[in-house]
Amino acid sequence: MNLQKITFATGVFCFLCATPAFALRIALDPGHGGIDTGAVHGQAKEADLVLKVSQRLKVLLDKDESFKVTVTRVQDKNISLPARVKIAEDAKADVFVSLHANAASDQRAKGVEFFFQNNLPPDEESLFLASQENQMLMNSKDLHDISGGDELSKKGDVSAIVEDLHRQNRLVSSLNLSQTLTHIWGQDDKASQATIKQAPFYVISKTSMPSVLIEIGFLTNPKEAKRLLTTEYQNDLAKKIYTALLSYKEKMDKPTAQTLD
Ligand SMILES: [Zn+2]
Repeated sequence: MNLQKITFATGVFCFLCATPAFALRIALDPGHGGIDTGAVHGQAKEADLVLKVSQRLKVLLDKDESFKVTVTRVQDKNISLPARVKIAEDAKADVFVSLHANAASDQRAKGVEFFFQNNLPPDEESLFLASQENQMLMNSKDLHDISGGDELSKKGDVSAIVEDLHRQNRLVSSLNLSQTLTHIWGQDDKASQATIKQAPFYVISKTSMPSVLIEIGFLTNPKEAKRLLTTEYQNDLAKKIYTALLSYKEKMDKPTAQTLD
């Protein structure tokens, strides 16, 4: 077996095998911050709410040695979208979880939404939401980082295949994580509806690890906004996400497919 074949076999092995049972590195990304407040309705400010939920979730994850946590921001500070991706990549995170809160023209809109990146065309509503969430990027000096260039064409066939497998694995894992989250939400009768969607949010499109963006509720829904402001509900959200991550880790730790050769 020449060196190229060895590299290929190792790559396939890593991408298709379940992660061994060691700490799952989580990159937690509370959206917005600083001058970028996100959605604001009455007392409810998206940047503050998602930071609080992120902090509560971090406390739970830190107590559990199954996880290692990195956060993209710990205070009310603006961090560019490319910088958030870089923090997750530098930490070699296994999973990226971005937290946001929703807004809609229809006050009746409610519920939690889980977004993952897919290759399917997103619906119009999701596209609009993604454009809102990505808006700060368009004003940012980091704009040049978006293009990045498609490096695939510059690489050899073997690298291209391995990269494609990695991309597929990332997509399946992201869907798996989203499904685990909706499952946890579905166990709670009192919880409002939870749906899985896909949209080209910058942070979940540009990270190389499985990623999910959670819209924790609609600030434009008076009942939901009131609930989101309570410590009790913020703790409840953090606990559900923690339980889902634990369940996802358990699935990942189970041995599945092995090598292709
Ligand atoms: Zn947002």
